[in-house]
Amino acid sequence: MRVTEIAFDESGKVKLTVEIPETEAYLTTHAPNMPRILFRMFPYLAAQRCFNEQGHSFRREALATEIPHLFEHLLLEIQKQVRRGIYADVSISGETEWNWSIDPRGRFHVTVGYDNEIVALASVRLAERIINALDSKEIALIDVDREVRRLRELVKVSRRFIPPIRGSEPEDDDATESDADIEVGV
Ligand SMILES: [Zn+2]
Repeated sequence: MRVTEIAFDESGKVKLTVEIPETEAYLTTHAPNMPRILFRMFPYLAAQRCFNEQGHSFRREALATEIPHLFEHLLLEIQKQVRRGIYADVSISGETEWNWSIDPRGRFHVTVGYDNEIVALASVRLAERIINALDSKEIALIDVDREVRRLRELVKVSRRFIPPIRGSEPEDDDATESDADIEVGV
């Protein structure tokens, strides 16, 4: 899985183009250890809210979903851990879309909220590394706790130079993270 494009918009969303080569699986059904190991590494991940067509919990949805959708939730979770206690707003959301009648097969569009570009970029790259390390069974080589601690240091340093963007403030009292999934023309 590769993140081939990263575009920040001023409303507080980062738009990612994610490509899965035809030779690789794009469903977790073909990589069942991927969600299982992720849920062990990130205990709060399974409890994330997920609005999917079937109305499944994310714990269940993750066992049979598109790998970029799992990546989206991982990215939300990493950002949530990194922002905890630093940014007031703990609510960020995301969505995963694809339409292969327009795009080449294997292309997905993942959109998630962010606070500052440096931290978002580093979180995207960490989530991408984790997914690929799970795929190649090299996850033991990544010290996730250390990586998250480094990102938290990055937040503390970079927010002195980059104020939080407008739109990252909470819009309502809902303090839980939410996630909406739009699935188009599979
Ligand atoms: Zn979801």
